[in-house]
Amino acid sequence: MTISSVLGYPRIGANREWKKALEGFWSGKLEESEFHGQLEEIRLNHLRKQQEKGIDLIAVNDFSYYDHILDTAAMFGIIPKRFAYEGGIVPLSLYYGIARGTKDATASEMTKWFNTNYHYIVPELDGALPVLTENKPLTAYREAKEKLGIEGKPVIVGPLTFLKLSKGYNKSETDVWLERLLPLYIQVLQELAAEGVQWVQIDEPILVTKLSADDLQRLKTVYEAFASAVPGLNIMLQTYFESVEYYKEIVSLPVKGIGLDFVHGLSGNLSAIKEQGFPADKFLGAGVIDGRGIWKASLREKLALIDELSGLVTADQLIVQSSCSLLHVPVTVGNEKKLAAELQNALAFADEKLSELVLLAKAQSEGGAQIAKELEECDRDLEALKQSGVRNRTDIKQAVAAISTQKAERSVPFAERHAAQQNKWQLPLFPTTTIGSFPQSAEVRKARQLWRKAEWSNEQYANFIREQIDIWIKLQEEIGLDVLVHGEFERTDMVEFFGEKLAGFAFTQFGWVQSYGSRCVKPPIIYGDVAFEEAMTVEETKYAQSKTKQPVKGMLTGPITIMNWSFVRDDITREQIAYQLAYALRQEVEALEQAGIGMIQVDEPAVREGLPLKEEDQAEYLAWAVKAFRMTTCTVQETTQIHTHMCYCEFHDMIGSIEDMDADVISIETSRSHGELIHSFELNTYKLGIGLGVYDIHSPRIPRVEEMTSMIDRALRVLDPKLFWINPDCGLKTRGYDETVESLRNMVEATLIARTQHSALA
Ligand code: GLN
Ligand code: ZN
Repeated sequence: MTISSVLGYPRIGANREWKKALEGFWSGKLEESEFHGQLEEIRLNHLRKQQEKGIDLIAVNDFSYYDHILDTAAMFGIIPKRFAYEGGIVPLSLYYGIARGTKDATASEMTKWFNTNYHYIVPELDGALPVLTENKPLTAYREAKEKLGIEGKPVIVGPLTFLKLSKGYNKSETDVWLERLLPLYIQVLQELAAEGVQWVQIDEPILVTKLSADDLQRLKTVYEAFASAVPGLNIMLQTYFESVEYYKEIVSLPVKGIGLDFVHGLSGNLSAIKEQGFPADKFLGAGVIDGRGIWKASLREKLALIDELSGLVTADQLIVQSSCSLLHVPVTVGNEKKLAAELQNALAFADEKLSELVLLAKAQSEGGAQIAKELEECDRDLEALKQSGVRNRTDIKQAVAAISTQKAERSVPFAERHAAQQNKWQLPLFPTTTIGSFPQSAEVRKARQLWRKAEWSNEQYANFIREQIDIWIKLQEEIGLDVLVHGEFERTDMVEFFGEKLAGFAFTQFGWVQSYGSRCVKPPIIYGDVAFEEAMTVEETKYAQSKTKQPVKGMLTGPITIMNWSFVRDDITREQIAYQLAYALRQEVEALEQAGIGMIQVDEPAVREGLPLKEEDQAEYLAWAVKAFRMTTCTVQETTQIHTHMCYCEFHDMIGSIEDMDADVISIETSRSHGELIHSFELNTYKLGIGLGVYDIHSPRIPRVEEMTSMIDRALRVLDPKLFWINPDCGLKTRGYDETVESLRNMVEATLIARTQHSALA
């Protein structure tokens, strides 16, 4: 009998109950015990759902109070030094302190989980003395068993991946750290084995990336140690997001199962199995259902794939599973009421994927005839979307083909543009600016709701937005900022806003996914050809500019970010989708310029996260991503200043590509990566305008002037003062009014100090 398995289920709940509970607790509205109760209910509901659908192997300990990497660190007592942790179970106040910062200590860095839009908290090993504070997987296993009779499969992040994602240690001490962690892992596993656990899923996604010979040796050491410590426990060594790099080494590890991704790593993993075989004593966790995509699977194609795979492994040792945790997709299509039928019928979110898995396992065990009806239905649904008019717009296809063969270049090189722009704008040394958004206060959200419910007319809402712009233009002038923004009050989300105004997009009502902590995003679905319909940002920007003599930056989201933060169609390449977006956004850039806006920021915070995990695929991606940005921005006059913004990822290995984007000014996040970016500029200087974020906007803490002056001083050691800008790390929409104003005042004060100190230089 073929069994079905899930690698993890979304935490947030179909109505974001989880998010609401977390925020209720943080704001003091929920008592701790009540909070625990609510989270338990959510957790059990999710398990029950999987049980009722008929999933055989259900993951437990996939749930989290914030992030599973933070959980793992807390479980091992790995707490950043500045929190003065004294041992024992990590209390919630400390746990959330690490994630969100406290008034005395900054939060840990967070960063993107491989090539997804999920962010994990980076463990800081520095000074930690790992101990097992609690066996979380065991607690989760017991709960599922006692409360629901589920024989759960505890999930834990593997030691190699954990160490690779951690910071605060010298790579030469890797073995020391491994020796500290290994006994703790073993204790966890032994306690699980003693409890009678059958399967444990150990996630080692790091195995799809390049590793050193030393790391491969460590991999062997770890899994051999596990095998001898817990010989009876079935370990599923789980990989995902790509094909594994070291197939031979991995399949020869002494584990009971190997989980491979046959969606995102299909060709590599499949050819490895075909060429090198699969060990007869192991289970193959065949990740055939896309854990990250939203499209219904072609059951027919998946069955053929499973059939092929089952011919390559020992009979009955195939587990049909999701390619990765379902954390990355929304909960259910079932609640959607407003989607076009052709689209709705072609979607599968987490719950629908459960059904797909169960169907496939059944067909594999009992024969395809058992699901003949479902197969036909599935074919019909997928064909209907394929034939849809929105997917087949020849006007767009032709226009995009034409412009993508042209050179995407500004009329003159940067040096000339810089001189012309300086001449036009007469900006002071170290111009100050912000990233675009200002606090989305309760009042702003309320107004939007009233308007969406049609309780407010378009005009009422537009007036309200104008009032907000008025308030913030005045404030920015009064604070003394040089380049102003309108504040983005009309936008909920930087991608959704544009998606709603472009053709080719669809929006779900409940399709939320976790981005970091309690922050959820509702990615649009690019399901048709993308097209510009009418100006999207001109009105508000023009209005803001009419209220001030300072320049107001127009504010757009770039093509790659829109694409990477959307769920996209899978019938054309991502490159083609990016060019369609670029063509549409270029029309907006031109409209802004025509309306007299002379600085235009095209945000690309998500460029990095689309970077393929495989090194050999990266250059190609970066080339077309850069090209898409340039296609968007290249047609403006030389005096029009193009800005861009990036944040919260590792930039140091892509500075060349960032430079190739040829934006006149980039504002880039720095404080959360604790100055590493600055270090990378010591190695490669940056030759265009650049503002390194001088304070972290993810924390309610108000940065002191001295903290910012020291950031500025450090940056100026490696960057040209004449090209240097001063700005926060990112947009301020999640912050409160008072803290924003106070922080920006401090930033301007720090700038004034820096100007006096450095004016001799420039
Ligand atoms: N302009 C956007 C803002 O200020 C940029 C947000 C982002 O980088 N994620 O909110
Ligand atoms: Zn940002």
